[in-house]
Amino acid sequence: MDDRMFRTAMGKFATGVTVITTEVDGEVHGMTANAFMSVSLDPKLVLISVGDKARMHDLIKRADKFAVNILSEEQKEMSMIFAGQIKEERNVAFEDFEGTPIIKDSLVNLACNVYDAHEAGDHTLFVGEVLNLNVQDGEPLAFFEGKYKQIS
Ligand code: FAD
Repeated sequence: MDDRMFRTAMGKFATGVTVITTEVDGEVHGMTANAFMSVSLDPKLVLISVGDKARMHDLIKRADKFAVNILSEEQKEMSMIFAGQIKEERNVAFEDFEGTPIIKDSLVNLACNVYDAHEAGDHTLFVGEVLNLNVQDGEPLAFFEGKYKQIS
């Protein structure tokens, strides 16, 4: 089993797409992530996995909070912006939610405090306690075999 085979296998797991957002010293930073899951109902916990080399890694540690924005099928461009797949800088408008920046028109925004962090190989698993959330109707952006997909 080499790295490519492992990536190919993991890519067979169809997911939604999120953008993680946080703010440090008045600067907002976003990062596309599909390693996201719901963990616990009581307390309400979610989990994200962030690569140690990602800028987001240190920023979450500093901010001690983050938001998860679950993207709709109309927000593919947001995913591309925050994955570095669009090279030119784009001006993205954020809104404040519970003291954390969020992306408007997402299917869901979850404002979280860092509840726990576990190092796992070359990633860190951040467990977030959900402080508040917004939910909207719409179809999700999906990701499968390294490509964006639409469910509808
Ligand atoms: P950078 O690479 O510096 O920033 C990412 C991009 O966002 C840059 O282009 C930057 O210009 C832009 N950006 C950041 N903040 C702003 C702002 N305020 N306004 C406008 N633009 C801004 N990596 C993981 O660690 N975990 C995952 O679960 C994960 N899942 C992914 C799922 C998908 C579908 C894709 C495509 C990528 C995924 N990645 C994941 C990879 C990750 O998104 C990229 O490696 C990303 O570039 C890492 O971000 P960074 O924090 O290092 O910041």
